Amino acid sequence: MTSSPFPLSPGATIGILGGGQLGRMLALAAARLGFDVVILTPEADAPASRVAAHTVLAPYNDATALADLARRCAVVTFEFENVPAEVVAALHGLGVPTAPSDLALATAQDRVIEKTFFRDQGIGTVDFVPIDCADDIVAGLERLGAPALLKTRREGYDGKGQAWIATPEEATAAFERLGGVPMILEARAPFVRELSIIAARAQDGSVAAYPLTENTHKDGVLRVSVAPAHAKASTHAAASALARTTLDRLGYVGVAGIELFELANGDLLVNEFAPRVHNSGHWTLDACEVDQFEQHIRAIAGWPLGPTAPFAQARMENLLGADVDDWAKLAAEPGARLWLYGKRETVTGRKMGHVTRLGPLG
Ligand code: AMP
Repeated sequence: MTSSPFPLSPGATIGILGGGQLGRMLALAAARLGFDVVILTPEADAPASRVAAHTVLAPYNDATALADLARRCAVVTFEFENVPAEVVAALHGLGVPTAPSDLALATAQDRVIEKTFFRDQGIGTVDFVPIDCADDIVAGLERLGAPALLKTRREGYDGKGQAWIATPEEATAAFERLGGVPMILEARAPFVRELSIIAARAQDGSVAAYPLTENTHKDGVLRVSVAPAHAKASTHAAASALARTTLDRLGYVGVAGIELFELANGDLLVNEFAPRVHNSGHWTLDACEVDQFEQHIRAIAGWPLGPTAPFAQARMENLLGADVDDWAKLAAEPGARLWLYGKRETVTGRKMGHVTRLGPLG
């Protein structure tokens, strides 16, 4: 019997599937703890590659590349939730530990499986109907009421792959516009605001959650996060409890983000679950002793989790597209904490960086 490699010693190599800004900030956190990072990404010159020790440049399902990654790494994680779950399973099969598991990834990748999972745990979601054809949408509208939100079951993010349906006449065109793929029709959540909770689970099963974050979206994309959210103690407690249940039931290891709708009566519904560090947790970089990126590295390395209590109130704003052109002004602003992702090309709506401003806890 081989002995466990955990906790990983500094100097060990951590693999990350995906090369975006989340991978970049994970790699920076790993470096801080003395780990080396190898990135597997199909994208040349990716933001994460430029702060990592090595990049395997290949499609995620390239068997030779996966074998190379497995050989180099003591543990492999992912920063991108559209990495095929089979790829994580294949790495596991090659003998390298992976965290979070392919089960957690597969659960989050399909909106019907995801919502069914939450319901099975007694955690509220909006009512929904699986959709395989335009007629299902017409029947679904009758059950859920109009308007309802049609989403692709897989590969949607930042509001992409979604359409509001107000009348049965819109069903066929919307089904075709979204690609005729399997979809879900969701009842409209009558939320008063959107919240999220970032939580971590360690290898020993201990769980630590950051306080609730209040999020403002525009066109389906996160613009601003404020944390800790001003909310009743019972709301904070309910969110922590549902996060703990979710991570425990999945046997989860690592950081996850759970997006929530708060209803007028204070109830919380889960919108979706991201099996990775989350944009609405970026404020922890500047307002917590141990941020979500270090927390994730700690968890997957078999280290103890760090504290999650913030020492400041934080307001994080995403810099989308040309917003990033203000970098010099932001760099000169006292107290503004600027994070830039090193993306070579500014594209409208693309997440180029973020800025966090701190204030006293209140
Ligand atoms: P999603 O891609 O599922 O995170 O959705 C993007 C955004 O669309 C959410 O942050 C909400 O603002 C909105 N949204 C998603 N699902 C619903 C729903 N069932 N009812 C109302 N708004 C929704």
